[in-house]
Amino acid sequence: MEYNALQHNIIIIGGGPSGLSTALHLQRIAPQLATRSLLLEKEQYPRFKLCAGGITIDAEIILERLGLNINEVPHVFADDIHFDFESKGLNIRIPKRHALRIIRRDEFDNWLAERARSRGLEIRENVTVKNIIPDQNGVTVETDQGIFRAQVVVGADGSNGITRRCIVPKASIHTARVLELVAPLNGGLAPVGANHDNHHAYFDFFPVPDNIAGYVWDFPTQIKGEPMRCWGIYDTNILADEERPQLKEPLAKEMSRFGFDLDQYEIKGHPIRWFSPENPTSVPRVLLVGDAVGADPIFGEGISIALGYGALAAREISQSFQRGEFSFRRYKRRVAGSALGQTLIARWVIAYIVYPLKWRWFQILLWRFLKPIVFLIAWIFVLNWGRRIR
Ligand SMILES: Cc1cc2nc3c(=O)[nH]c(=O)nc-3n(C[C@H](O)[C@H](O)[C@H](O)COP(=O)(O)OP(=O)(O)OC[C@H]3O[C@@H](n4cnc5c(N)ncnc54)[C@H](O)[C@@H]3O)c2cc1C
Repeated sequence: MEYNALQHNIIIIGGGPSGLSTALHLQRIAPQLATRSLLLEKEQYPRFKLCAGGITIDAEIILERLGLNINEVPHVFADDIHFDFESKGLNIRIPKRHALRIIRRDEFDNWLAERARSRGLEIRENVTVKNIIPDQNGVTVETDQGIFRAQVVVGADGSNGITRRCIVPKASIHTARVLELVAPLNGGLAPVGANHDNHHAYFDFFPVPDNIAGYVWDFPTQIKGEPMRCWGIYDTNILADEERPQLKEPLAKEMSRFGFDLDQYEIKGHPIRWFSPENPTSVPRVLLVGDAVGADPIFGEGISIALGYGALAAREISQSFQRGEFSFRRYKRRVAGSALGQTLIARWVIAYIVYPLKWRWFQILLWRFLKPIVFLIAWIFVLNWGRRIR
């Protein structure tokens, strides 16, 4: 196997939002380190990534602080977000702005990679990492294109990533099951009064009493400028010990209410690894970011979270190089103590309250009648962490 003799400061494995955010933050706070960094990506941009592409305000704040203008990426806006149980519930609006921006991940990740590249990051596409072997002096990264060496490796390779499997093979895993499809805006023959408006995003928690600890979503989106809807179902698996219907059943049921036949569309699935305080974050010389550590357990939201991990990892790496010490012992505490860690811990607690209390009456109470409390909890614990992360 070919040996790439150059020792890099940092090798980032995976060019999704967490890997690219790590690189962009390094370029900002430690440019001297960033110049000898390398990102390895197994696909070629613009590459497909299964994702509904809902971006919250926290992601926008982080990108803005990096000097990036997300308006350059094709998008649609949802003016408000509905959190429903059986089509009735509460909706969240943010005064004078959109509640959710929806992008396509092939376009968003490609844009982010171009920006990082234009600031000096070396990205090698079509390189699949096969093995990661840390030792006292550095890390060996074996790929299908040869062997690389680095002082530090960042595992940004997503929910099924090889980095986590190499460095902490026995760690317990919490993963959600997720199915998604994209349908034409007017593909359904909706009965009168049962139409979802194209300027709104919908989450419906009606599958919870059937032991699917999650929701069905319906977002506006676009493909090459054509307005579409993105439908999907998310199940944390928190109620996996109970009897559950097939995952696509509630999705098919909800779509049929709007005149859509699920079987007419290509449906795709992918797991989301979600955050739990026990999830490992690093071993000496290797640290994890994004889904490799864990996304939001309640909704499976992971884009803003991935961008946030990148900010924390860059600071951790920069300080490690200053000290000449790469144990990354403090990284877990840094994550937990950060605004990102606090929202993740809060969301983990909330997921373990909201989903096991699965009774229909409780879900109706929660989404339809406890609006002020839900708003307050969302405002304090779920949103608004992006401004406080450094
Ligand atoms: C169906 C679905 C819908 C979702 N909807 C939303 C949503 O609306 N909003 C939201 O915020 N989040 C959503 N998420 C979650 C979100 O997609 C993830 O949290 C986010 O992509 C995590 O970013 P990441 O950079 O950690 O990993 P990824 O985006 O998965 O990026 C990992 C990268 O690593 C590369 N890679 C993997 N293995 C290797 C290897 N061995 N060698 C080299 N490269 C490798 C991959 O090609 C990829 O580019 C959704 C997820 C799913 C599955």
